[in-house]
Amino acid sequence: MKNELYPWLLKYYKKIVKMLKKRQHHSILINSDNNLGINKLILNIKKWIFCENIKKEYFCNQCTKCNLIEKNIFFDIYDLKLSKIIKVNNLREIIKKILLTPKYSKKKIVYIKNSELLTKLESNTLLKIIEEPPKNTIFFLQTNKIKNIISTLKSRLYIINIFNIKKNKNIKWLLKNTNFNYKKCNQAIEISNNVPLFAKKMLLGNLWKIRKYFYKNLFEKIKKKQIIDILYVIKKKLIVFFLNLIYTILLDSIKYKKKMFNFIINIDQKKLIILISKKFKKKIIYKSIMSWMQFEKNVLNINRINYELILLEQILKWEKILKNNINNILLPEV
Ligand SMILES: [Zn+2]
Repeated sequence: MKNELYPWLLKYYKKIVKMLKKRQHHSILINSDNNLGINKLILNIKKWIFCENIKKEYFCNQCTKCNLIEKNIFFDIYDLKLSKIIKVNNLREIIKKILLTPKYSKKKIVYIKNSELLTKLESNTLLKIIEEPPKNTIFFLQTNKIKNIISTLKSRLYIINIFNIKKNKNIKWLLKNTNFNYKKCNQAIEISNNVPLFAKKMLLGNLWKIRKYFYKNLFEKIKKKQIIDILYVIKKKLIVFFLNLIYTILLDSIKYKKKMFNFIINIDQKKLIILISKKFKKKIIYKSIMSWMQFEKNVLNINRINYELILLEQILKWEKILKNNINNILLPEV
């Protein structure tokens, strides 16, 4: 049976299987965007490793082992999700225990999610284990923040980067997996930063409603010149989503100014787009985008910051920019 992997991950599945076949690497780090379905990729690899009827790069998805792996009750697979529980215990003890437990099959797999959360001590422990790998044990590590992994550990891992997936492919997949038309799927892919699983979630769940509510709010606040109130609408957990809402609507307003109507993404938000493009100069809109980008950089790269405070600062800054009062942001000529 062919594996049922998301189309954008197939290439990486094949690559990893090929590597494992040749026994080139036993420790692999997957560095990717959120919401690309990496757990499913690893699940497929696990099945391929243990399946009783593999044919080339395919597993059967029917044998006992495939079934146990699907149900997440297979003995020789250890999924470690880093959290406080793991931190209180000692990673070394945990891995030691895993490695000492007798194997039921020929191999063992250790899968560490969110490996950017490994402390220096834990990283060094893992490094030692990986440098002298126990027989037939394969390590998979996953991260969305590769910068936070210490370089000595990175240097021992084979890194697979999963980004820049083709937009058209994603739109096609979304069309097939939802009942929405091309324009709406295209819109969702754009807003989700080209992450199809997130786009699907957005179309089928609450996020589309949240988006509408946010834009409705933004419309009113811009009219009243009281941007500060949107502070209460932006939720920390969904910050990347809200940032994309802000970027796309601002870019749409510039496109509207330039009469590039066919390139507008938020086609259902014409009123808001027209309001922004009529009310603000192009330069002011660009400045707005840049200040939000700066904010994003600060928010996403620094851990444990006072999020509420810097969001408040940013909104105040934006309000000033929109009132055309600050000129201290260096801007390339556009
Ligand atoms: Zn099987």
